Amino acid sequence: PETHMENEAKGLSSFPSGRRRSVLPQDMTKPVNKRVSIAGKGLDMNPKKGKFGDANRPNKQFYQMIEDFRETMDVFPLSMSDMIEAKRICVCVRKRPLNNKELKRKEIDVVSVPGDGTLLVHEPKQKVDLTKYLDNQVFRFDYSFDEESTNDLVYRFTAKPLVQTVFDGGMATCFAYGQTGSGKTHTMGGDFTGKSQNSTKGIYALAAQDVFTLLKQRSYAALDLCPYVTFFEIYNSKVFDLLNKKAKLRVLEDEKQQVQVVGLQEMYVSCAEDVIKMIEMGSACRTSGQTSANANSSRSHAILQVILRRKNKLHGKFSLVDLAGNERGTDVSSNDRQTLIETAEINRSLLALKECIRSLGMDSHHIPFRMSKLTQVLRDSFIGDNSRTCMIAMVSPGMASCDYTLNTLRYADRVKELNGAGKLND
Ligand code: ADP
Ligand code: MG
Repeated sequence: PETHMENEAKGLSSFPSGRRRSVLPQDMTKPVNKRVSIAGKGLDMNPKKGKFGDANRPNKQFYQMIEDFRETMDVFPLSMSDMIEAKRICVCVRKRPLNNKELKRKEIDVVSVPGDGTLLVHEPKQKVDLTKYLDNQVFRFDYSFDEESTNDLVYRFTAKPLVQTVFDGGMATCFAYGQTGSGKTHTMGGDFTGKSQNSTKGIYALAAQDVFTLLKQRSYAALDLCPYVTFFEIYNSKVFDLLNKKAKLRVLEDEKQQVQVVGLQEMYVSCAEDVIKMIEMGSACRTSGQTSANANSSRSHAILQVILRRKNKLHGKFSLVDLAGNERGTDVSSNDRQTLIETAEINRSLLALKECIRSLGMDSHHIPFRMSKLTQVLRDSFIGDNSRTCMIAMVSPGMASCDYTLNTLRYADRVKELNGAGKLND
């Protein structure tokens, strides 16, 4: 039966056949060793009878099928020296590593990143006759980052190319999208392991550093640009200033459809360290007053903007957005009215965001920015010839997150699909 299932797993694969090949044994030394050691540990569990052992066993089969699949998979990891393609809309995906909790639970990693923009989800499934098989689903994006990728690497291919746009007088946005716990804040804000935060390693800080590098370049120094930072969050359609003790702010739209966040603190910054201070201040403000860890911040969108002004007039703006968790309100732990309202609001704003990026990709003159506060506030980033956007879809690798992961990838895929449509018009 084991062989039968192995073949089945491979046979059902929808992975492009041209990309599959057997891997030479010497290439596989490391993964094979890893597999053996984990499988060895797994065997120790077998003698334990009862509920736990039974529940553990089916997943072991899936684990083996996935490992077998990976042996046949060609891998093209991204490297720092790879070419970067300039795109108006860029959609990427990043897989985080299994965390300690998941490792302890022996959770199975169901996501593979062969590279070259591709990512696979090995969805465990069962036939009516109870035969287990993998539904291997392939997704393709501009870039795909595996669990070994650093923030530096992710930054290089996502937000870094957008810094130039801001100097050229354009609007740039970079979104971190995904389920709570998938790595959005880690990617944008930096490493939050433990209580302390290393915000120098997040996309916010890396972008800030590049802004100051360019400011010093001779061609831009002549422009006399002044950099400012704002940092705010949108929670339940309300805007709160993270650089001003979460002051609640009003959003106004004038007759020319110019959107203004009234009273938003725009802090002048003279160096990257200044920006890092703001990031830390704002991040601390965002998570303060929360009951359970991450409860509130996962349900709000945080927006850090680096604004360049020339003689007080707006020159360019870079908005870096750590979006609210995209999971549906299906978890039983949160069935109260307030949470349902929050969930509906988050779903609406993420839908609006997709529609607005779509209009940008299609050069449409109708931008449905009024659909949500998030898109309203970002309105000027969805218009004009000089607007560029990047979305990083974050996925958790575990089998328990499989449905959320597929949900995230389908959303990103639709944004990507529209990107293609937009390119045809060029
Ligand atoms: P989110 O903001 O999407 O809810 P977080 O960024 O808070 O998720 O990440 C959840 C946990 O996973 C954090 O402890 C974080 O440090 C860790 N994590 C996320 N991405 C990575 C990564 N690429 N490498 C290592 N740890 C990560
Ligand atoms: Mg977060």
